[in-house]
Amino acid sequence: MPTSTHVIAGRCTTEFDGSRDRTQRGDVLVVIKPDGTVLVHDAAGYQPVAWLTRADTVTVSPDAVTAQDGDQSLSVTVHEEYARNRYRTNDAGVPVGTCPACESSLVRSGGTVSCPDCEDSYSVPADATILDEQCSDCGLPRFRAKRGDVFEVCLDYDCESFDDRVRAAFDREFDCPDCGDDLRVLRRGGLLLGCDAYPDCETGFSFPVGRHDGTCDCGLPTFETPTGRRCLDSSCEKATAQ
Ligand SMILES: [Zn+2]
Ligand SMILES: [Zn+2]
Ligand SMILES: [Zn+2]
Ligand SMILES: [Zn+2]
Repeated sequence: MPTSTHVIAGRCTTEFDGSRDRTQRGDVLVVIKPDGTVLVHDAAGYQPVAWLTRADTVTVSPDAVTAQDGDQSLSVTVHEEYARNRYRTNDAGVPVGTCPACESSLVRSGGTVSCPDCEDSYSVPADATILDEQCSDCGLPRFRAKRGDVFEVCLDYDCESFDDRVRAAFDREFDCPDCGDDLRVLRRGGLLLGCDAYPDCETGFSFPVGRHDGTCDCGLPTFETPTGRRCLDSSCEKATAQ
């Protein structure tokens, strides 16, 4: 979704009503972000002289900006306008390779990799590492993530599915500790190992981010994770031994 930020430069009076009432006048830059955040910057420092973060309502008219959030309000009166425009803005992220369709730089912000020009976006596991290597079919970068083993797949799930790779390796690989049925690889937001007998048996564990490296004294698999060796059951204490 393309969004835009409104920018006004001019001689303004700002009035903030809230925990500390304050009126200021000067030649300032007013920035109104798509999420309702209003910032008023003067000539010095990184900090705005007045601001309201993610206001409930923001109204922009030719000679005023008013923002209201609960019992706080910020109003900016524009006495003389030097410049005004709206510019496209989006979430800035870490550059992670090139879009094969348009050659723009892909950016990663949290669990999403997106192209700013095609507006295509791909979700990746939070712990994924985006690789320098491109998919030989579609040209998108590939990523690496650990779920029991290390998997490297294309960013596009339709091209190559991370879930399918994890499923091929670990579906029905372990037994439910409560009823003995198979644990299935399921996606419920994140990946889970959940009992096949659901809903009769509701046992399930989130899939650890790490390599499967053995068996816990309780019988469940263990995983080598960034925070140490652990049992599939995060509440089990037997796995830290060995
Ligand atoms: Zn693109
Ligand atoms: Zn691909
Ligand atoms: Zn079960
Ligand atoms: Zn255990």
